[in-house]
Amino acid sequence: MEFDLIEAIRARTQLARADVALSIGDDAAMLDVPARQCLVACTDTLVDGVHFPRGTPPAAIGWKSLAVNLSDLAAMGAEPAWALLALTLPAGDAGFVTAFADGFAALARAHGVALVGGDTTQGPLAVTVTALGFVPRDAALIRAGAQVGDAVYVTGTLGDAAAGLQLSLTSLAGERAAGGGGELSDRLNRPVPRLAAGVALRGIASACVDVSDGLTADLGHICAASGVAAEIEIEALPLSGALRAAFDASSSRGFALTGGDDYELCFTAAPERAEEVAAVFAKLDLRVTRVGRIVAGDGVCVLDGNGAALPMPRTGWEHFAS
Ligand code: ADP
Ligand code: MG
Repeated sequence: MEFDLIEAIRARTQLARADVALSIGDDAAMLDVPARQCLVACTDTLVDGVHFPRGTPPAAIGWKSLAVNLSDLAAMGAEPAWALLALTLPAGDAGFVTAFADGFAALARAHGVALVGGDTTQGPLAVTVTALGFVPRDAALIRAGAQVGDAVYVTGTLGDAAAGLQLSLTSLAGERAAGGGGELSDRLNRPVPRLAAGVALRGIASACVDVSDGLTADLGHICAASGVAAEIEIEALPLSGALRAAFDASSSRGFALTGGDDYELCFTAAPERAEEVAAVFAKLDLRVTRVGRIVAGDGVCVLDGNGAALPMPRTGWEHFAS
């Protein structure tokens, strides 16, 4: 059974890459790392009922398990190449595995990512993906480069995934009734890693992070790593039409500030790079919004329309929080 499941995954995710010397089927994969590039490696686990609501479609779990990892590569300015998949399943459910693998493969194929190995075990449903990619050493977008005076930007819109989660927990019909359609739950289930944006920001962004735990929490990581503080203008937050249709302004802004799972990029850039930033995103046909600026100090503060500091909202998602 285990080997039938592995074969089903292999068959559905097959993708030829010249840099894969040995793939699924041996004790380990063998991969050619291009000369003069850093191998960029990250891993993220999704646990049933923690990282996705119980009842999430298997294809969405497959997509999301890869997407959250590709988002980490995007935040480094890296190009993805390979992935490994450790799958823990309560039962040898072939229907689950084929749907899961199809969802995983749809995103992998879109970015030329080859699944080169993994592990399949029995236990409570959990998925760990390791993603591997490349970036020239000096071009990586790390968290530690933000400077006082830099502008703070985010890609796309924020808060949609958290709103989608809230709606899915309150009622499945609720989302449609609220006029959000499936857009918000799509943002939750099938996040789009901003890989092209990450690569395009090489040499432009001074620091970058992907928004997985909420804007204030993730921008806080840039601030801590860079030894600076940030101010967010609450009225500048980019909110989608679907979010504004489903929730009032105050709830929408709350989701945008502290909701997790958006997988947009938050980055900083010197003010004189503003035109370059605009040009990059016009070419990518992706929304980009300046939401604030880097100042001296520590931590993240949120300003209202008059520039007055608002009480800090609850911070982002944290495991083991008391
Ligand atoms: P081993 O016992 O040597 O660890 P396994 O039986 O776990 O080997 O796996 C056999 C092969 O199948 C290996 O190449 C492994 O990388 C691959 N594999 C196992 N599970 C998965 C999975 N979920 N996705 C992709 N490849 C997998
Ligand atoms: Mg194994």
